[in-house]
Amino acid sequence: MCKKLRDLLAVIGLILCGLLPQAYAGNLAKGDIERMVDYFYGVGEILPDLPVYPLFVKDAAQPEAKPELRAYVFETIDFAPARGYSGKPINLLIIMDLSGNFLKVRLLDHKEPLFLDSAGTLKLERFAAQYKGLSTRHTVEIGPYNDPGLRDEQVAHVKGVQQGTISVKAINRAIVHAAAAVATARLKTGAEDSPVAMSREAKDVKELREPRDLKDPKDPRPVLAADDSKAAATARAAAETAESRVPAAEKKNEVTTPAPSLAQAGPASAGRTGPVTPVGESVAATASATESALAQPVEESAASPSAVLPSNPSAAPTASSTDMQDWIDAWQSRSPHILILLSGLTVLSIGLIAQRRLSASPKRLRSLRTVYLLFTLGFIGWTAQGQLTIVNLTAALESLSSGGDLGFLMNDPMTIILWLFVGVTLLVWGRGTFCGWLCPFGALQELISLLANAIGKKQRRLRAALDARLKGLKYLILAVLIVSLYASPPLAELLVEIEPFKTAISLYFMRDWPYVAWAVFCLLLSVFVYRGYCRYICPLGAALASVGFLRVWSWIPRRQECGTPCQTCRHRCEYQAISPAGPINYRECFQCLDCVSIYQDEQRCFPLIRLRTAERAVIKP
Ligand code: SF4
Ligand code: SF4
Repeated sequence: MCKKLRDLLAVIGLILCGLLPQAYAGNLAKGDIERMVDYFYGVGEILPDLPVYPLFVKDAAQPEAKPELRAYVFETIDFAPARGYSGKPINLLIIMDLSGNFLKVRLLDHKEPLFLDSAGTLKLERFAAQYKGLSTRHTVEIGPYNDPGLRDEQVAHVKGVQQGTISVKAINRAIVHAAAAVATARLKTGAEDSPVAMSREAKDVKELREPRDLKDPKDPRPVLAADDSKAAATARAAAETAESRVPAAEKKNEVTTPAPSLAQAGPASAGRTGPVTPVGESVAATASATESALAQPVEESAASPSAVLPSNPSAAPTASSTDMQDWIDAWQSRSPHILILLSGLTVLSIGLIAQRRLSASPKRLRSLRTVYLLFTLGFIGWTAQGQLTIVNLTAALESLSSGGDLGFLMNDPMTIILWLFVGVTLLVWGRGTFCGWLCPFGALQELISLLANAIGKKQRRLRAALDARLKGLKYLILAVLIVSLYASPPLAELLVEIEPFKTAISLYFMRDWPYVAWAVFCLLLSVFVYRGYCRYICPLGAALASVGFLRVWSWIPRRQECGTPCQTCRHRCEYQAISPAGPINYRECFQCLDCVSIYQDEQRCFPLIRLRTAERAVIKP
């Protein structure tokens, strides 16, 4: 079998392995829900047509009466598996009353790479908790992390999360679309309070309502109508008592909502009925009546609004319009970064097309390369957060394998542009364009090597056999990573941490010490072995090298004498990417252009030196 075909089959095999179908669905059972909702709710049976549990409350004034339907509880993943940066759906629990008010919004699960530790997860939990007190009628606008978070009955500003724009937008989408789907299927909605309202374009709303009109969330006074105040006070007291009974571990994850409203005050706040059953008493007396009622299917009644809209969640507003608006917002807000990046890529393309001119002077090549690596590290990496990572690839595989698409990537313009550029240059020049010029972590390693050289520390060249063996290690790491995506997702989450990019570039080394220690180790390695991490460990480098067979152009000029007898380029190639026989190993070539520079240098290229000497000899006699 020819080598290219074998490579192709190996890559397809690995990708297919990652694409084995995975289904995502909510997995909370009734018992789990019972533990997570306030004690005064009785949880009914899951609805026959929707993955939604009804919540009932017993009226204290009428102990014999049937418990009344007050709210629905559901997991967003069942309706809107919105994907953030990881490509995996984020899952939240929503308790929504019959008027579409959110009584509770709680983050259940996420795999967002920047927020996997407890502090990061807490940030996302705090973000999600801000939706408590909002409703399907609200237009939500995500502000910066220090946004004052103003809100009124129609418009709500929520605080964003630093470096988490994509993740919080995914959370917002999950909440909006899941709530809209349930509201559309189960609640009576009028044109003016359509669940679609939450998807309205924030800019229109801004024009209509200035933030100064909105209620200050720091104002502790709830917005209560006169008739509702007593019921709400009773409900709030009950809720507070319930809160005190919540286990400490659960409380730790709860975040108080800044803007108390009637909807937040408790299940009586809808103003339909009297106070809820007081804590302890009456509950036992009416337990059997409650249990039998909960076992019944939810009835359509005055208290249980009829489903005037289709019960099929697919009839709910689709994500596309909001996604498109998110994309447009993301691209507009990052237009300065996009412009700088496109300029940088244009300069690089011109330089690589004119590679011989660029490398004609070794000194100029070194200076320009160093400047470009500083741009890559400083701008692409630390400023614009454009570090491509294996997580982009695993996220894409995850999304495709779970029936999603790649639309979530559109929220990150830097990533999309860089991947498109890398895709094209992979076909033309191979992985070297990215690894040699555009990877911020790669640039950081090379700059550290240069610094080491400047203080007299030269990197060691490994013996060819050892170098070749170690270069195989990164492919093994990549294969284990892809297989673990399917076989053991938790292991895959752990394995992607082999990339120190998140620590060194995305989080500026502000992470738990084991991650920082690993990143520092990888960087220090480049003091002793040139780009040691890149050449031997990096799974992203391995992934790019694996598709090296797609490269159509062997762009490095060679002479007959390359390899036999001349070994100059091979000895000068810091990446050990030239075989003793002369051919270039493009999988390991980082497009540093050193050998292109040597090729045209009459002082360093052996055939040129010989030619020059021979010419002199001819002229001299
Ligand atoms: S091998 Fe990895 S770390 Fe090195 S330049 Fe390529 S992607 Fe970046
Ligand atoms: S010197 Fe090595 S890494 Fe640089 S361009 Fe030539 S073969 Fe590639």
